[in-house]
Amino acid sequence: MPVPRTYHLVTLGCPKNDVDSEHLERLLAGGELIPVLQPEGADAVIVNTCGFIEQSQAESFAAIRELAGRKQDGQTLIVAGCLSQLYAGQVRETAPGVDHVFGVGQWQEVARLLSVDVDAVYDIPESAARVSGPSAYLKISDGCDAPCAFCVIPRIKGRLRSAPAGLVVREAKRLVAAGAKELVLVGQDTTAWGEDQGSPVGEGLPLLLKQLAGAVGPETWLRLMYAYPSRVSPQLIETMATTPNIVPYLDVPLQHGSDAVLRRMKRPHNLEKVRAFIHDLRTAMPDIVLRTSFIAGFPGETEAEFRELLDFAREIRFDHAGCFTYSRQQWTPAFEMPGQVSAAVMGRRRDRFMRQQQAIAGKLARRFVGRTLPLLVEGCGEDGDGLPVVVGRTYREAPEVDGLVLARGAAEPGSIASVRITASSEYDLFGTVVG
Ligand code: SF4
Repeated sequence: MPVPRTYHLVTLGCPKNDVDSEHLERLLAGGELIPVLQPEGADAVIVNTCGFIEQSQAESFAAIRELAGRKQDGQTLIVAGCLSQLYAGQVRETAPGVDHVFGVGQWQEVARLLSVDVDAVYDIPESAARVSGPSAYLKISDGCDAPCAFCVIPRIKGRLRSAPAGLVVREAKRLVAAGAKELVLVGQDTTAWGEDQGSPVGEGLPLLLKQLAGAVGPETWLRLMYAYPSRVSPQLIETMATTPNIVPYLDVPLQHGSDAVLRRMKRPHNLEKVRAFIHDLRTAMPDIVLRTSFIAGFPGETEAEFRELLDFAREIRFDHAGCFTYSRQQWTPAFEMPGQVSAAVMGRRRDRFMRQQQAIAGKLARRFVGRTLPLLVEGCGEDGDGLPVVVGRTYREAPEVDGLVLARGAAEPGSIASVRITASSEYDLFGTVVG
C-alpha cells in the first residue's frame, strides 16, 4: 500500500463511538493525514461500526456495502469497531472489497497500518473526547463487568477499564481550554469508575467528580450519563448536591419496572432500591431532572409485567424516558431464553409506553415555565420576521438525546445566557433571552 495522505472516516452508533473516532482522528492528525469529506477523495476509508442492536448492525453492514461499492482503485477500506469485533467473518463476506478488519480499541493498530508512528503521537488512549459546539464528551472508562442478560457490550468492549484520574483531569482541562463549556461524562457504566483500580463500589466516581469540578472551575458544567442503578451511592448523591457545577441531571438506565423481569435480566437492583435512591436524589436536589431507558418485550415478558413497567414509570415520573424493543443478541444469555416476544407485540408495547411518557414529560416540562434558567447557547439565527433567535440547552437537556430550548433574543453561540421560559412541549422549552 502506498503511504496514505488522506482519509475519510464514517462513524456509526452512539456518542462513545464518536469519542473513539475522535481518538483515532487525533492519532491520524499526528501522522499528518488529512480528513476529506467524501470517500472518493480518500486514500483510506475507515468505518467505525456499531454492533449493539440489530438495527445498528444492519446500518453498519449497509454502510460497509455502500463504501465497498464506491471503492476506487488504490483505495484501502478499513472496518473497525463493535460490529467487526463480533462479526469479522460476516463483514468480509458481505463486502469482499474490505481490505482490513479490526475489533474495538484497535485504533493504534489502524493508525499504524496507515503509516502513523503512534509512539511519537501524544494522546490519551483511554480518555479521548471531542468538542462539538460548546459541549464535549469526556470518556472516563470503557468496558463493563455487569452481567445484564440482554447485553453484548461486555463481549464487545471487554472488562471495565477506568482512565486514570490524572489523565481524565488533564483531558478535561484541555477541553475547557479548547472552548468546552460543558463536559458530558460517558462510559458503559460511569458509576463503576475506579472499581478496577481498587475503589469500593459507589465511591470512585464521587472522588473523580470532586477532582474534576476543582480542576475545570465553577463555570464549566459537568453532566453524568449512564449511571448504574445499584451504584447510585449516598456519596454520589451528596457530591452532586453540593458541587455547584455538576448539573442536577442524572441518566440512569433502569431497563424495566417489574422485579421479575429485572431478575431474569440479571440486573442486581430491585424496585424498592430504585424508589429509595430516587427519593434520596429528589430530596437532595428537588429540581433534579431524571432520564432513563426501558426495554419492552424482554423474553418471557407478560402483559401483566409490561403493565408493571407502565405503572412504575407513571409512579416515578421521569423527565425523559426512552423505550426500546428488545433486540435478540447472539452470545447473550437472553438469546436462548424461552418466551421470545413477537416483534408486533414488542412494537405495540413500546408505542404504549411512549404515549404514556409523552404525557408525563409534557406535564413535567410545564414546571419550568415562568422560571429563568442559564442557557448554553448552541446556535443563533433569525425567525421568519427577521428577529433574532437562539437555540441551546439548559441543565434539563443533555446533548443529542433530549430536547432543546428555543428562545427569542440574541446571544453568542458558546456563551451562557439567561432565558426566561415562557412555554413548553413534551420535549422542548421556549423562552426569551433576558440577559
Ligand atoms: S451495564 Fe450497560 S453496558 Fe454493562 S452489561 Fe448492562 S446494559 Fe450492557
